[in-house]
Amino acid sequence: VKEAIERLREIDREIYRLSEISAALGWDQETYMPPGALNDRAEQQSIVEGMIHERITSAEVGNILEKLGVDLENLSADLVIDGLEEIDNAFVREIARFYKRETKLPKKLVEEYAREASISQSRWVEARKASDFSIFKPHLEKVLSLKCEIADLIGYEKERYDALLDSYEPWMKTEELLSVFERFEGRIKEFVKRIVASGKKVNNDFLYRSFDRKKQEEFGRFILGEMGFDFERGRLDVSAHPFTTSLGFADVRLTTRYNEKDFKSGLFGIIHEGGHGLYEQGFSEKLIGILADGTSMGIHESQSRMWENLVGRSLPFWKAYFPKLKETFPGELSDVSLEDFYRGINEITPSLIRVEADEVTYNLHIIIRFKLERELLNGKLKVQDLPEAWNSEYSGLLGIKPPNDADGVLQDIHWSHGYFGYFPTYSLGNLYSAQFFAKMKSEIPGLEDEIGKGNLQVVLSWLREKIHRHGRVYPATKLCMEVTGETLDPDYFMKYLEGKYQDIY
Ligand code: ZN
Repeated sequence: VKEAIERLREIDREIYRLSEISAALGWDQETYMPPGALNDRAEQQSIVEGMIHERITSAEVGNILEKLGVDLENLSADLVIDGLEEIDNAFVREIARFYKRETKLPKKLVEEYAREASISQSRWVEARKASDFSIFKPHLEKVLSLKCEIADLIGYEKERYDALLDSYEPWMKTEELLSVFERFEGRIKEFVKRIVASGKKVNNDFLYRSFDRKKQEEFGRFILGEMGFDFERGRLDVSAHPFTTSLGFADVRLTTRYNEKDFKSGLFGIIHEGGHGLYEQGFSEKLIGILADGTSMGIHESQSRMWENLVGRSLPFWKAYFPKLKETFPGELSDVSLEDFYRGINEITPSLIRVEADEVTYNLHIIIRFKLERELLNGKLKVQDLPEAWNSEYSGLLGIKPPNDADGVLQDIHWSHGYFGYFPTYSLGNLYSAQFFAKMKSEIPGLEDEIGKGNLQVVLSWLREKIHRHGRVYPATKLCMEVTGETLDPDYFMKYLEGKYQDIY
């Protein structure tokens, strides 16, 4: 058994490094690659993905899993192999999961998908710039049809969405997701309605004065440092769509974008991605390989949302950092008080762009995407009708109609990559973040005072100990149980919102 696991680790190490090479290509494509290199990049990605596929689906991996007695047919999050330690057991479980999925897909299809997704992503950038959905449409159709083929090959009990959701939120079924959404969708809609109906307005004109880009970056880097982000093992750059990726165990890349006319965009993008980055920098070294990863996108997002909202948009946080911000922008913020600033960054208002939405209406953006992508996958909605369906959902749920495709259906990168099933994990992240934070507060007396003193280390240490170091060892539901003693409960998020916005509105 020991030998079998050793060999599996060797194979895993190679796959892990190949995935990092793929990540390096992807990071470059979204930051510095000249547009003309599109076809080169697509070929490169296709070859690397093909190599990963070949390695994980090899007969050798199959034989080892068989020797270890893994029952692939009935593989579950609770897999226990007698005699294995926790980490080895989790390692075998994750390799088996990957193997099971990939063996259902022919290499040709994996390569074709990688190539098309890469091209489609670049066309999306173009289409978004030109605000013209028609440039993107044929590529989205291609990627969607490939994803349907992939989902059908992987197999599912109830609907295609199950097969794809599983890549982002391992082991979770659409049905469970729907039941979580059921428990908070109505409440969040009601909450937004109440605030809009109150007619109360938050004045935050000052956030839209002119903020020098360089100074924004300087302040953002300072905050990242305060959060504990290690620049020896990471970088911050600029991209059309903020993201975080790891090009190595000690190489975490963050990106953001700056808008001189909207202060919130750059900084909260940085804090958000910084939350992802800290998770990636926090995996135990023992886990290098498939286990050195976020255990699910929902959990990953809980880390970014916690830093962005529960910490970064809190009054104690700005008690600590507003003086420094004022120093950085003396002309722009000299007439703004701490309380006004706090209220200003917490305005709740229906808006067009998901990544810039407040933490409450944000979830409405997710509800719309979740609905539309399920319809696309189930064949109820055609790609050509997507912009119209998008606009009508925005009118219905948020009461605003996007003036163009760039600020409407083209705003997110996800579908261009074929990431169908990803969006709901953002709302899961919001829910998890509130539940984790409530637990943190109960375990650390004076937490808010510490944050108010600029001691963010106390937050990071807790996250490191409870969540980060475990990487993928515990599946999301188990991790939630280990950390909070309960399953995911949307009540925590709603209570957090009630408490916070009572004071602001
Ligand atoms: Zn995120």
